[in-house]
Order: sequence, then C-alpha cells, then structure tokens
Amino acid sequence: MVEDVIEKKTVKVIKVDVDKCIGCRACELVCSAFHAEPKYSSTNPAKARIRLIMDEFNDIYIPLYAGEYTDAECNGRNVYTIDGKTYDECTFCRASCPSRDFFKDPDSGLPLKCDMCLDDPPLEEPLCVQACRCDALTYEEVEQEEEKEESPDEMETGLQSLVKKHGTKKVMESLARISKEAD
Ligand code: SF4
Ligand code: SF4
Ligand code: SF4
Repeated sequence: MVEDVIEKKTVKVIKVDVDKCIGCRACELVCSAFHAEPKYSSTNPAKARIRLIMDEFNDIYIPLYAGEYTDAECNGRNVYTIDGKTYDECTFCRASCPSRDFFKDPDSGLPLKCDMCLDDPPLEEPLCVQACRCDALTYEEVEQEEEKEESPDEMETGLQSLVKKHGTKKVMESLARISKEAD
C-alpha cells in the first residue's frame, strides 16, 4: 500500500485584498504580455491568467486567478450574493471548464493556469503583483504542509484538453505530421 507523504514547503502566495482593487486591469495586461510569444511582444487580457470580475455599478472588482483545468462541469456550484447582488454560479470559479470560455487561450483553446510567472531566473515578485499600484495584490511566502501527489504537468494537461476537443486520432495525426515536418 502506498502511503501519503506529508511535506513541508515554502510556497509563494498572492494575497488578494478586493477592497483595494480599483479595476484598472493592469494585472491582466502584464500577465498576458509575460506569456506572449515572444515574451512581452503583445498584450491581450483574454490571454491573461488573472481575470477581473467587474461590477462597476456596485463598485465591485474582484481579481480571480486561473486555477486547474477540468474536463467536466462540476455539480457543486455556488451562488454568491455581494452587497445584495447575486452572481452567476460559475462567476468566481477559477477552473478552465468546458462550460465557458474563461481561462482558455482564445487562439488555441488550450487551458490557461496561473504559473506564478515561472521564469529562469525567478522573478522577485509575480508581475501582476508588481503592476498593482493599489496593494490589492501582495506577495507573501508561507509554509504549508502538502500531501505529495502526482499531478499532470502543463503539457499533459494541454494534450488532455486537445484530445477531449478533437479526439485522440486527430491529435495523433497532427503530432505525427508536426514531428515529420520538424525532422
Ligand atoms: S492591478 Fe491591482 S488594482 Fe488593478 S485591477 Fe489588478 S488587482 Fe485591481
Ligand atoms: S466553471 Fe467552475 S463552477 Fe462552473 S461548472 Fe465549471 S467547474 Fe463548476
Ligand atoms: S502570478 Fe504571473 S502568471 Fe499568475 S496571474 Fe499573476 S502575472 Fe499571471
């Protein structure tokens, strides 16, 4: 029997203070620029891994980080009411989910997930934190206990979503063609 392994590790955490957010959307712009190909060559908020949920009439601005990809809609949706306004069940969900276009690359359809601005050498602070002039996003290091479990890497997750969308045969054919062209 395989036992769960509990590991202590220091992780980066971005703290969100929604009361300080003014809805400037600078975080979306820098995130999309950081992940552009080539890096910083363009901006497109639809490609950002952070998204601002806005209700300007009620002065509500909530930055939401892209979380895990899911290949099926969940059945545990939550309805939130803030200052008397009720929000759609999926509004504050961080998943890249088949039920909507949130957190999917508009060109490729691949799921987008916040990678904390993974870079080599690492950035001192994630770019969205650097861009936020209102301290709505702050960067902290915290120690967490984590159960060690195998999770698919970004490439595997991307392939899974392509297989789901186009079928295994088509994806295999495309891969064979691409590798032939690359030889
Ligand atoms: S940069 Fe800061 S203030 Fe501007 S939208 Fe993002 S979180 Fe809000
Ligand atoms: S977007 Fe989130 S809450 Fe809505 S169905 Fe998908 S996983 Fe569930
Ligand atoms: S931490 Fe980096 S990858 Fe994540 S949302 Fe902010 S800018 Fe984008």
